[in-house]
Amino acid sequence: MIKISFMLTLALSLSLYSAAQQAVEISKIELPDMGDSSGTLITPEEEKEFGEAFFRSLHSQIRINEDAEIQQYIESIGQKLVANSDAPSNPFHFFVVMENDINAFAGPGGYIGVNSGLILITEEESELASVIGHEIAHVTQRHLYRAAEASSRLSIPTMAATLAAILLGTQSPALGQAAIMAIQAGSVQFQINFTRENEEEADRVGMQTLAASHFDPRSMPTFFERLQQSTRYYGQNIPEFLRTHPVTTSRISDTRGRAETYPYKQYPDTLAYLLTKTKVRVLTGTEDADTLKYFQTRLNQGTTEQRIVAKYGLALLALKEQKFTEAETIFQALKRDYPNQPQYAAGLARTAMNAQNYPTALARYKKLTEQFPDNEAIALEYITALLKAGSPKQAQKNLASLSSKTQKLPVYSELMAQTYSDLKQPAESHRYLAEYYYATGSTQDAVMQIKLAQRSKGVNFRLAAILNERLRFFLNEEQVRRNR
Ligand SMILES: [Zn+2]
Repeated sequence: MIKISFMLTLALSLSLYSAAQQAVEISKIELPDMGDSSGTLITPEEEKEFGEAFFRSLHSQIRINEDAEIQQYIESIGQKLVANSDAPSNPFHFFVVMENDINAFAGPGGYIGVNSGLILITEEESELASVIGHEIAHVTQRHLYRAAEASSRLSIPTMAATLAAILLGTQSPALGQAAIMAIQAGSVQFQINFTRENEEEADRVGMQTLAASHFDPRSMPTFFERLQQSTRYYGQNIPEFLRTHPVTTSRISDTRGRAETYPYKQYPDTLAYLLTKTKVRVLTGTEDADTLKYFQTRLNQGTTEQRIVAKYGLALLALKEQKFTEAETIFQALKRDYPNQPQYAAGLARTAMNAQNYPTALARYKKLTEQFPDNEAIALEYITALLKAGSPKQAQKNLASLSSKTQKLPVYSELMAQTYSDLKQPAESHRYLAEYYYATGSTQDAVMQIKLAQRSKGVNFRLAAILNERLRFFLNEEQVRRNR
């Protein structure tokens, strides 16, 4: 068990904080200098472990996007920015949180989350890039750790859960009793915000990254301004992002002044951004009638591209409402006009899958994987279709050929569990279900699945050894979490 010595100065609107304040007056600790030798407090190995625990814990507290196309987009825009940042070789992981609140956050280990609500209020791709660039800068400038000091002896799982709750602005039941007690005992101190200097530095460094990645530096002040104006409508319920990244007038004018030093030019959005935003709107929309109206009014206005994107939205909405004939018609037209755009052909294949027309769905996906061999969003959908169509053997083969990055996603373990269940190998199925639960922050359920696996038929010597090892590991994690 590795313990991190740690004190974080961070964003916070944690309601348990006030409870803790009543119980114990938490002592203030002086922040170390901005320029100190950050990075010595936590080793890269510890940071990786902390980041992974943070990401697992997030799953139990909020809804992380599972749509592979959306994941593919956020990862690609994030990595494009990382490549032009001042730490291009650092590990980063990007994901979308399917929540309507406006929020974006950077956790340990380079885990950067962007809420669907924030994506939807961006009006240009550069605005989204400016938020991601700013969060990347918080990571590369090690703001999370600069204010860290050896004061707490929390275990990684507890620390990760606590940090997740703070960055999300929620007090989740998943935040363990141990974390609450640790805060009450004053062994951890959480402050409200990144410092103003941290924010200014993240703006400055983020803008360099933004410009180097060929996004519009002017979109940063524009977006901050929109955020600031939006607070008017929120009253007490200020978006979490603004609590953790307060946007002041001077910050906006500083950012604007800096942006003006870049030459003016046009920065067209990528189609991938427009299509992703459209899909996010359909998937997170609670009133389909409103979403319908939104796309219908955009069908006949704006540029050709905007009209096509509105059509795509209508097709996705029809598919969501199981109007398969309508979805089929629109996707067919889109695919005919734009045969090299994977999203349209994938929508068409998905329509056949959801309509349970499996021979057609499989034929379409197979063709798509030949046309776009590196597109793992399509590969994952194809595997889902194979399982629905009753072809677990082929699904197993396709799962084995996914990249190691994709094999680390919870969806991989979930599909493996389903595949083994269909292959009538219950022990392996429970084993992968255990990995899925562990990856999504439910270690107790992981323990139960391992026990079910051990009692299943077909446990050979090799598998028995793996199960024992994993059980020991999960039990230890649980123990650590409960004790601190
Ligand atoms: Zn910030």
